[in-house]
Amino acid sequence: MVTEYQLKQAIVRVARRLDTKGILTSTDGNLSALLDDGGTLITPSGCCKGELEPDRIVRLYRDGSARAGKPSSEIALHRMIYERRPDVRAIVHAHPPFATAYAVAGVPLDQPILSEAILALGRVPVAQYAMPTAEELAKSVEPLVDHHDAVLLRFHGAVCFAKSIEQAGYLMETLEHVAHIDFIRRAMGSNELIPASEVARLEQLRAAMRSR
Ligand SMILES: [Zn+2]
Repeated sequence: MVTEYQLKQAIVRVARRLDTKGILTSTDGNLSALLDDGGTLITPSGCCKGELEPDRIVRLYRDGSARAGKPSSEIALHRMIYERRPDVRAIVHAHPPFATAYAVAGVPLDQPILSEAILALGRVPVAQYAMPTAEELAKSVEPLVDHHDAVLLRFHGAVCFAKSIEQAGYLMETLEHVAHIDFIRRAMGSNELIPASEVARLEQLRAAMRSR
């Protein structure tokens, strides 16, 4: 069993790693993870993730209230994902440059170009535009949450969710890496794609891995 403090430390480690990689910039983005008692840990509003300390992470109780600190303003998005996906234990929201450029352009990352990305990430759709920091944002992402683990937020950024905060962080890194590679192969004029029969096999394997 992971204690509250250990989970706070894990969130800090992931936040700092993503900050170092340029995936979290300035005070952008937010991270959260579920506690075994039904509470939630979430990064505070307006904080630079590269300077995050465990004690600054906000603890929300089962009823959603915080006794200290101001939780991220995008809490409604996190709450909706946890409600719809009982298998999800952690969420990372960020504005990494390549993935966000795809979100701005309204281009989903759904071309089968990398076998391991199909396994780890699956197809990444673009949610309809919504005002950040509002219930509206949660509503725009909701239709896509059941069948995806990563979603691009139109004119905004991306959100990834997984069984642990480490996995959610890795998924965000993979998403940005895939967007970067997709951008380069488009610049090269490549239209090479993994054959449909192989994509079907990879998607079957992904489905089996997700149901475990
Ligand atoms: Zn955001």
